[in-house]
Amino acid sequence: MAVESTLPTPVRTPASDKDAKALQFIEEMTKNVDSVQERVLREILGRNAETEYLKRFSLNGATDRETFKSRIPVVTYEDIQPEIQRIANGDKSPIFSVHPISEFLTSSGTSAGERKLMPTIHEELDRRQLLYSLLMPVMNLYVPGLDKGKGLYFLFVKAETKTPGGLLARPVLTSYYNSDHFETRPYDPFNVYTSPNEAILCVDSFQSMYAQMLCGLIMRDEVLRVGAVFASGLLRAIHFLQNNWKQLAHDIATGTLNPKITDAPVRECMRKILKPNPELAQLVTMECYEENWECIIKRIWPRTKYLDVIVTGAMAQYIPTLEYYSGGLPMACTMYASSECYFGLNLNPMCKPSEVTYTIMPNMAYFEFLPHGSSTSCLVDLADVEVGKEYELILTTYAGLCRYRVGDILRVTGFHNAAPQFRFIRRKNVLLSIESDKTDEAELQNAIENASLLLKEFNTSIVEYTSYADTKQIPGHYVIYWELLVKDLAIAPTDDVLNRCCLQMEESLNSVYRQSRVADNSIGPLEIRVVENGTFEELMDYAISRGASINQYKVPRCVSFTPIMELLNSRVVSKHFSPDLPHWTPERRR
Ligand code: AMP
Repeated sequence: MAVESTLPTPVRTPASDKDAKALQFIEEMTKNVDSVQERVLREILGRNAETEYLKRFSLNGATDRETFKSRIPVVTYEDIQPEIQRIANGDKSPIFSVHPISEFLTSSGTSAGERKLMPTIHEELDRRQLLYSLLMPVMNLYVPGLDKGKGLYFLFVKAETKTPGGLLARPVLTSYYNSDHFETRPYDPFNVYTSPNEAILCVDSFQSMYAQMLCGLIMRDEVLRVGAVFASGLLRAIHFLQNNWKQLAHDIATGTLNPKITDAPVRECMRKILKPNPELAQLVTMECYEENWECIIKRIWPRTKYLDVIVTGAMAQYIPTLEYYSGGLPMACTMYASSECYFGLNLNPMCKPSEVTYTIMPNMAYFEFLPHGSSTSCLVDLADVEVGKEYELILTTYAGLCRYRVGDILRVTGFHNAAPQFRFIRRKNVLLSIESDKTDEAELQNAIENASLLLKEFNTSIVEYTSYADTKQIPGHYVIYWELLVKDLAIAPTDDVLNRCCLQMEESLNSVYRQSRVADNSIGPLEIRVVENGTFEELMDYAISRGASINQYKVPRCVSFTPIMELLNSRVVSKHFSPDLPHWTPERRR
């Protein structure tokens, strides 16, 4: 695809005074990385000096790096889970932060099958908004004229829940979209969305998507950029259009809203936007009726200059499909963020996906870096990382996380002023990911073990297994390859039993996976492919023929390399799918 040829030349002059200020801020931050980091640590430790956590490690009010590094341990979520549980249960004493914990942000990372709970404080919303406010000024340097139209962004909120102590627990974006910061954001001609707030804030994912798509179609002539947070979200929207274009076209033709949209605020705002437009309905019908959906984004939204979606990390698997649907439009990965903290932004957002680097903003938190594979005594500061090296990101936040291992592995590719720029390499321990789900090896193993219990009465066991995230179709789904040992052919497990094994595996997977299956429909039914006996030995032979050592060979628990996929797929004897949805409710199990 001609991605490069469509890249615009940077304009390099700020689009407005407001942009000039934002760009100036980025320059200041990136020139003074180390002093900003020193100040941030001083502020965090100074204000939190009286917290239980810092007192436990006898920081005694010290705010300097040396004392901090020598006394405070590097921790994982599991290490601080008891304190988090106390906060969730209603303990309001200053455990991590002197500022009250305003809510929990539910990370897509999991611990013991449940979403991690990240305590946050109200002022963190300002920091998140600050980072958001830097994105368009940078983009305007590269893509002129974004004030001459709108952005079609598919943005969603998810179900919220309350902890036993009464604190809200919800994803960071749900928190942000529900905040005054988002709802009463000042008008910015460079950042106008086609989606009304009412549609974004509708918790029912079908109704929300329907209304957002309808608005996108109605305002098609104004759309200059199309996006979602992650690539998987944008592909879900395209798939939604494939499934619903007839009804959408009907609504546009008649000016009436699909009766399935029952949410009162959405109906009310759509009443103002939706007017009969048979011509547009015909155009939508003509484009969507075609079997061939190549370039559909450009065909329906012809003024689109770029896609705004994250395609780095686990999302890179979606690049070819997005290129197909968009006809090779540039894909801008604008920021790098998490529930714990928003980290930074891409200062060259129109670069190729493979060249994306993120510049961490030193004002967001105090950052340390663990050289990959080293012990936790060798942490390096943000200003001291070295080009070419890989590090694990460690965070100390205003909300009170101290030397917390995020689990992301980053490689330094260069510097902007004194600020290092990082390529996102991978998330530690993640085997399978379709969307925001992150399934690790232990979770997969546990799911396999649970499913294998169903095979016992058929005198059958699982000899070997591996997995694959199949994202060729939307929604993507997990594929698990099984080699079985059927000890008594007369009672071999039936298709029905193997289907139930699929469901049993899904029941065993973490709550983010199950939520994606049940509430968001963003992951399809899990599939088991039974392969011929001896297939995994062939897999080993193949690996050894390519230089693997026999002694050290381990069955890969996740595969994607084409020759291996071809080998596995050519040995498949039967395919089975989960016949039902697994259980999921917003409530946590613990
Ligand atoms: P969550 O806490 O659920 O919001 O997930 C945050 C995680 O998503 C990060 O720690 C990364 O692993 C991943 N992530 C966020 N932004 C990006 C990005 N721009 N590129 C790659 N991975 C990302």
